[in-house]
Amino acid sequence: MKVHNFNAGPSVLPNEVLYKASKALIDFEGSGMSILEIGHRTPLFQAVMDEARNLVRELMQLEDDFEVLFLHGGATQQFLQIPMNLLENDGTASYIDTGVWSNKAIKEAKQFGFVDVAGSSKESNYTYIPKQFNVSPKSTYLHITTNNTIYGTQWQQIPQVDVPLIADMSSDILSRQMDFNKFSLIYAGVQKNMGAAGVTMVAVRKNLLGKVTRKIPTILDYRNHIENGSMLNTPPVFSVYISMLTLRWLKAQGGAAGIEKLNEKKAAILYDEIDQNPLFRGTVAKEDRSRMNVCFIMDKPELEDEFLKLTKKEDIVGIKGHRSVGGFRASLYNALPYESVEVLVEAMKHFSHKKA
Ligand code: PMP
Repeated sequence: MKVHNFNAGPSVLPNEVLYKASKALIDFEGSGMSILEIGHRTPLFQAVMDEARNLVRELMQLEDDFEVLFLHGGATQQFLQIPMNLLENDGTASYIDTGVWSNKAIKEAKQFGFVDVAGSSKESNYTYIPKQFNVSPKSTYLHITTNNTIYGTQWQQIPQVDVPLIADMSSDILSRQMDFNKFSLIYAGVQKNMGAAGVTMVAVRKNLLGKVTRKIPTILDYRNHIENGSMLNTPPVFSVYISMLTLRWLKAQGGAAGIEKLNEKKAAILYDEIDQNPLFRGTVAKEDRSRMNVCFIMDKPELEDEFLKLTKKEDIVGIKGHRSVGGFRASLYNALPYESVEVLVEAMKHFSHKKA
């Protein structure tokens, strides 16, 4: 292992994925060419795209009417592409506001129709997931952000609603078991749990599409990407390849069920330490704690720099909190080894003994 990489994204990838990808950069599958040098419409790359899409379908256990796409533009592009494809000018979409990323999605949706913010935890700086909200049966869809990367909150239960459910799963996709078929559209920038930056996974039920009357530019219309097998234009071949390798790795870990066990163990030892160590304190409601992004602060913020220096000596990287929360944030994505969390917990124990 190189360092203990707690980065929030882009973030740690499995070593074997990096190793395979580095070999493919020089000679892809014995072709005498780098993966970067082959045409995207060659059988060699078509096999990569097919396997990546099939692995998503298999690992998420998606029903047949879902289409799986790998698109450009990040999750950020999905903030606009979703309402552009689904929301009529005079229609209303419901959103739950759980922080920065939900707000960006809300802002874009307002350009295409009406937005009803059905629930929000803004008044507490997003330290919990709203539980009580009413979604009008007339809403075109309800949008949630299943894991809030900046604040460290995560939906533990999928809300039951009578309208199509849409989720930004950028920071917890395939990190736990979930009935993905409860959703109508799921999207995720892959650079946290599913690969390297440059590609976004979208799983969409086909019957959701083709209902709006507005004209949709060719490259933003999901139907064109479906028709062209995610190759409407040149896909980001290397990012798709890394996603494919990461999904293969995930399957070998036992898929969502297997990785969930490990992710629970990792989060448990860190939250236990936060709860029992007198120097540290968690920042969000216990029942909404994220297993992906663990946010914590110190009652004595003047000790933060000293603690960071100590962790640096242990090769711990990426734990400085987001500027809107402060303190620390340890991201425990799928590829982060359990041992890395143990090293962080040891550093916290050591620091509090030193200060006692
Ligand atoms: N949604 C969530 C929950 C995120 O964490 C992020 C990135 N950190 C985004 C959306 C934006 O993703 P991208 O940079 O791929 O557009």
